[in-house]
Amino acid sequence: YATLGGVCLNVGCIPSKALLHAARVIADAEEMGHFGVAFGKPATDLDKLRAWKESVVAKLTKGLAGLAKARKVTVVEGSAKFASPQTLEVHTKDGRKVVSFDNCIIAAGSQSSRIPGLPYDDPRLMDSTGALELKDVPKRMLIIGGGIIGLEMATVYDALGSKVSVVEFMDRLIPGADPDIVKPLARRIEKRYEKIMLKTKVARIEALPQGLRAHFEAADGAAGPAPETYDRVLLAVGRRPNGANIDADKAGVAVNERGWIPVDRQMRTNVPHIFAIGDIVGEPMLAHKAVHEGHVAAEAAAGHKAFFDASVIPSVAYTDPEIAWVGITEDEARKQGRAVGKAKFPWTASGRAIANGRDEGFTKIIVDEETHRVIGG
Ligand code: NAD
Repeated sequence: YATLGGVCLNVGCIPSKALLHAARVIADAEEMGHFGVAFGKPATDLDKLRAWKESVVAKLTKGLAGLAKARKVTVVEGSAKFASPQTLEVHTKDGRKVVSFDNCIIAAGSQSSRIPGLPYDDPRLMDSTGALELKDVPKRMLIIGGGIIGLEMATVYDALGSKVSVVEFMDRLIPGADPDIVKPLARRIEKRYEKIMLKTKVARIEALPQGLRAHFEAADGAAGPAPETYDRVLLAVGRRPNGANIDADKAGVAVNERGWIPVDRQMRTNVPHIFAIGDIVGEPMLAHKAVHEGHVAAEAAAGHKAFFDASVIPSVAYTDPEIAWVGITEDEARKQGRAVGKAKFPWTASGRAIANGRDEGFTKIIVDEETHRVIGG
């Protein structure tokens, strides 16, 4: 792509945050109505909102281009594949270009996963990139996948006025998080959204002139809810690593069958002068993890004794309400056979939360009863 910054800056975290901020302000204004300050229905100028989101992205990608220039980084625009353990072949607008290296860091990321039976050539079927383009505010929108992307985009489109439905394969939303902490979110969106279908999948979608008609199936293969027609559908069922797309074998770099590139704690692949970081090396696929891994790889390549030694990596879903977690969940601790202790502080006792009119949340801490250490929160 012509801009640096990858998925997070261009079509991920950053445009999401810009739109989620707008959603937050709309929701705050609506909530104030209950406390005696009414603002009325928001008048949304979609072109302006989109332009603002794009300006946020442009500011950061321009900054990155400036940084790269100041540090005398040569940027080659094109699609690269390994040609040997010391060279890459890059397809650029001006033809093929060979780039040689002493050390290399692979940071080629991931792409949206797909499921069979969907009309991928229909623009009304979107992935996260399409949803962030904000072409319009669909009257009815189906989100396939009740994970972080699905529910963050649901937060945006619900605030802008879409009737949102979510279909999730598992028996709960954000399956990776502690089920307790997802409950306040689940309770709020069950009331606000049109429908939340758990233990359900989309068997196929028909592209009709009047909309996308989704046929549902229960997760166990039994009959699902009746088909429904939506103006747009967002597919957010996870992301898969791009490891299989870079001819890593020509450099001798091992890639596993799912496309991940295994690395050691210095982010080295099996080829010592080739490193890999970010989504392509494994879960969690989080930008803050990738940035830190990038630092470690660069330092290790420069001969420093740097290691990726984070004992925990925090996660957050910028939904409404937000959910943040770190360490292991109560379930995981029990599965590990630990003596689990827990403490819960309800925000109905928090002055700040009550004053905000948002006291549905709580703080939960998981403790190992033997070591008396906090192991999750
Ligand atoms: P995810 O793994 O968080 O969620 C995907 C969901 O889709 C899961 O709940 C899964 O059970 C469900 N699913 C899978 N197949 C399905 C099917 N056929 N039908 C219905 N449901 C199905 O993945 P995502 O939301 O696509 O996000 C991708 C990655 O991006 C994640 O690793 C996430 O951590 C990262 N991300 C992070 C943030 C953040 O940090 N705030 C924001 C967005 C994305």
